[in-house]
Amino acid sequence: MLNIHHILQCPDCQNPIHTKANNYHCLACNREFDVEEGIPVLLPKNFSGEEAAEADFHSAIAASWEEENQMESEHVRSVHMRFLAHLFELKQDSLILEVGCGTGWDGIQLARRGMQVVETDISVGMLQVANMTATREGFHERVCHIGATADTLPFADESFDAVFCAAALHHFDDPACYLREMHRIIKVGGLVVIGAEPSGWFGVLLRRYLGLKKVLSSAQHAPGDESAHGFSPKKFRQLATSAGLDVVAIQADWYSIGFAHYAIGPISKLLRLKHRPPIPLGIERFLISFDKLIARIPLAQHVPWLCSLIAVRKH
Ligand SMILES: [Zn+2]
Repeated sequence: MLNIHHILQCPDCQNPIHTKANNYHCLACNREFDVEEGIPVLLPKNFSGEEAAEADFHSAIAASWEEENQMESEHVRSVHMRFLAHLFELKQDSLILEVGCGTGWDGIQLARRGMQVVETDISVGMLQVANMTATREGFHERVCHIGATADTLPFADESFDAVFCAAALHHFDDPACYLREMHRIIKVGGLVVIGAEPSGWFGVLLRRYLGLKKVLSSAQHAPGDESAHGFSPKKFRQLATSAGLDVVAIQADWYSIGFAHYAIGPISKLLRLKHRPPIPLGIERFLISFDKLIARIPLAQHVPWLCSLIAVRKH
């Protein structure tokens, strides 16, 4: 495991966590933390019912998550690689934190490029899948996994060179609070990357769709998605500024390919297919190229399906 014991902090009383072998103990408030299959679970005592529901939902879908979300498809990969590119530029062995890591796909890409990655999630089931993948890919000494909530990260101030989260911020009820916490744990000059979030208009559409789906069936979706609002460039700027961050870039992704990606789920359900089929490669490549043309239209920057925020801690 990565040597990060010196930066671990109790989520309840903010004092250092004492670690010995596989034992995690806060000497100040005397709390002992669970370790599940080698993963320290540093969740705060006041872990809410809503957070527990979100954690249970994600643990239940962990095994099939990457396949269902088509992580290896060209159009999903390209969005992740585009926001990860900002982190690839950091110097070798930079210590990067991922908040809400899910199955850890992004962390593996960073480890491949010589970074050290700490991955956190509230779902221990997701962390177990991420841990198995990191071990299988030979990165268990570069990537480690910790159970944690995004609003009480169990790390000391200014511990990391960068922090990122991918398609996770819209699951949090108060994004400003989470950005302030990310600001706290990175060094001055550190990078914050918020990748692949639903855009403003997509957030509205998503809520309507999920609301309708809830009425019509008992279909499964993450509790956090029900209240997702999405992020416009203006909202991203406000959030970054209120957290003491300076915006480096706001990236827009997916136009026509977004329709294909989101239509394929309901269509495969209508056809009663067991798994969501991939978009045929020819169509996928055509739509990706077409989107590059759409992206040149200035107005298009305001209506993508997804957008990413790149910011830096100045003070
Ligand atoms: Zn404590």
